[in-house]
Amino acid sequence: MSCYAQIIIQFATTSQIDKPFTYEIPPELSSDIQIGQRVKVPFGMYNHLQVGYVLGLTNQVAENTYRMKKVASIIDFEPILTKEQIEVVEFIVTYYGVSYASAIDVVLPPGLKGEPIAKVPEYETVISVTPDSIKLKAYCLSQGHKKTFNKQKWIIDYVQTCGKVTLCELKVLEDVSISSLKTLLKNGYLVQQEEPIQQMFTPICYDAFKVLNKSQDQAVSHIRELGFEEIYRTVLLQGITGSGKTEVFLHTIKEVIENGGSALVLVPEIALTEQTVSRFRERFGNRVALSHSRMTAKERQRLYMSAKQGKVSIIIGPRSAVFMPLPNLKLIVIDEAHEASYKSDTTPKYHAIDIAQKRMEMAGGQVVLATATPSLESYYEALQGNYDLLRLDERIGNATLPDVELVDMRQELKNGNTNVLSRKLYEAIESALAADGQVMLLINRRGHSTFINCRNCGYVVKCEHCDVSMTYHLSTQSLECHYCGKTKKVPEVCPECGSKYIRFFGSGTEKVEAFLQEHFSEYGILRMDMDTTTGKEGHQKILNAFKNKEASILIGTQMIAKGHDFPAVTLVGILSADMSLYIQDFRSNERTFQLLTQAMGRAGRGENKGKVVIQTYNPEHMVMEVIKNNQQAYFYEQELMNRKVMGYPPFSHIFTVLVTGNQEDEVIRTAHKLMTYYTHYSSRGQTEFRIIGPSSAVISKIGDEYRWRIIILSKERDKVLVFGKYCLGKFINNEQIYGIKIQWDIDPLTIV
Ligand code: ADP
Ligand code: ZN
Ligand code: ZN
Repeated sequence: MSCYAQIIIQFATTSQIDKPFTYEIPPELSSDIQIGQRVKVPFGMYNHLQVGYVLGLTNQVAENTYRMKKVASIIDFEPILTKEQIEVVEFIVTYYGVSYASAIDVVLPPGLKGEPIAKVPEYETVISVTPDSIKLKAYCLSQGHKKTFNKQKWIIDYVQTCGKVTLCELKVLEDVSISSLKTLLKNGYLVQQEEPIQQMFTPICYDAFKVLNKSQDQAVSHIRELGFEEIYRTVLLQGITGSGKTEVFLHTIKEVIENGGSALVLVPEIALTEQTVSRFRERFGNRVALSHSRMTAKERQRLYMSAKQGKVSIIIGPRSAVFMPLPNLKLIVIDEAHEASYKSDTTPKYHAIDIAQKRMEMAGGQVVLATATPSLESYYEALQGNYDLLRLDERIGNATLPDVELVDMRQELKNGNTNVLSRKLYEAIESALAADGQVMLLINRRGHSTFINCRNCGYVVKCEHCDVSMTYHLSTQSLECHYCGKTKKVPEVCPECGSKYIRFFGSGTEKVEAFLQEHFSEYGILRMDMDTTTGKEGHQKILNAFKNKEASILIGTQMIAKGHDFPAVTLVGILSADMSLYIQDFRSNERTFQLLTQAMGRAGRGENKGKVVIQTYNPEHMVMEVIKNNQQAYFYEQELMNRKVMGYPPFSHIFTVLVTGNQEDEVIRTAHKLMTYYTHYSSRGQTEFRIIGPSSAVISKIGDEYRWRIIILSKERDKVLVFGKYCLGKFINNEQIYGIKIQWDIDPLTIV
């Protein structure tokens, strides 16, 4: 029995108190106290009770000059943090340079306030269709013609297929409308019952697994062998869309489960669709649980505890699911691993891949990164032999890659065509529609016209609060700032020179829609962007309408580029391929390449060959060339060379500091002063750092906050992190700063 406990205080996010404090364990608690528990302890001058985490127990303490305080009570008797998680916490603290308190906070489920964590319930609410099948049939018949019935019909069909579904799961599915669900329950077409939670796992459904093709089989075998030997490895599963990556990891998970292990599957925030979930459910039944941001804090706590107690063995969820404490975790799959949403944008700004690797390294398991377009970092690791590269180069079945055509928009302009669509794309749409195909058009800006410009003096209407031009929206007939959301009326004359020649330029989704309505309205046109998808049901409504062929044309922002599988799409048009090339970020080539490749993946997924038309002002740009000629490997080679020459990741690590505040001169002064600390300490140290700045950020003002940046690069990650934080700490200790916020990040995904 130990006499002392080392305790981290929950709210201690400042560095002075973010360290283990030693408390005496009173005899009445000494037989219950365990590492990983939450406790209440007196803290500070007034000894207010605070929540703390027990990270260590000991019998010895150094000689003390002050009276030691005592642990007051234990909050949860079952330790909330496992030993493995405490190691993960320590990893986060050192790898990201953050406080213990914030590292523990991110590992634990949300909403823990000092009360015991929610218990795993013994009962769950289960939904099934009414046993009165005549009543249900009559209802469906009487409502079937109504458009509004679609949402209800979807739920009825889903529940009927599953037999029984838990309420919790039904609620998180994208397709489910909560109000429709309520209506069906209220009128008795669906019934809900409390049932004891099944303690037994349902058997794996072996019939549902596809027979693997040769390259899939090689991939599964490779991971199997690593698993047998318990060798920690990251596997980069690079395969074009539709090449069977999901099938590969479903098989791998099956083998992990058969050997008594468990698995985590991470998906980008938006991708938790019924399609994904049902593929897992069908095969793994009640072993699968979903984690989702739509769950309440209590529900997430329960899931956390179910995972911890091994009541589920597969969890599918977004970035935050990477911390789920599944026992005997042997595999973490990260689907669409290149997605930026895997990096957190709040402290600790962790990347799910780093955490997954740390966990599998400790457990002797594997991390599988599945993607068609790996990040440069992942690709480079594979080249260096640090990751195993497994490739799936062909689409399943008869589907082939689409033909790609580039249209030079400068030529188009010369020929007098100022429309949003080039002649080539216009004709391609005509023939695709004539052949009964569907068309997707991608334009990466919402609104109608992306800027308003005075022909006489060149004035551009900018947001008063942000350094960006305002977008004209047809629906509201007003100008909107896409950064702070402020709107204003369209000026009738130029506010600068009074000229009447105010003109609208640049195209967004609304302008494309208006143009298509003039020419193709009889085919049905849908538009999907942030303005048409308010609430999560908006999303699904549009996608379902397109899937059910209620319309033949879908216009949208990058939302439509990802994941969705529409077999009838034979043409994809990309109207603004250059937009992301112009963003002043060293990743702009990579982002453009990824977006175009993903968008292309939408064409020709069915029987008919697909076609892609890309409109660009830079047809000779390297990214356009490699897309046209399908030279993926060449892209990576070239881009790695660029990065090497420029000294950017993966050849260096970046530490960024962002100084913001609403007094511009104060922001600039602070940034310059901070810079002197960096140059001073850099000249005294052994290691060379490249320090860029201070300079106004690419977007120099957002919501009245001015933004300045300092960027520090080094080959050595740990050194740049220590240096970056050290100088910042010195600066904050020595200088007076008022009304200024300073944020920092290591390995940022963007530097705008
Ligand atoms: P990806 O994840 O690479 O986009 P999927 O695993 O979703 O690819 O596979 C695409 C489609 O092909 C899916 O409908 C899937 O069921 C099917 N499929 C995958 N592998 C096979 C296989 N070996 N035999 C038959 N169909 C397969
Ligand atoms: Zn003017
Ligand atoms: Zn604004």
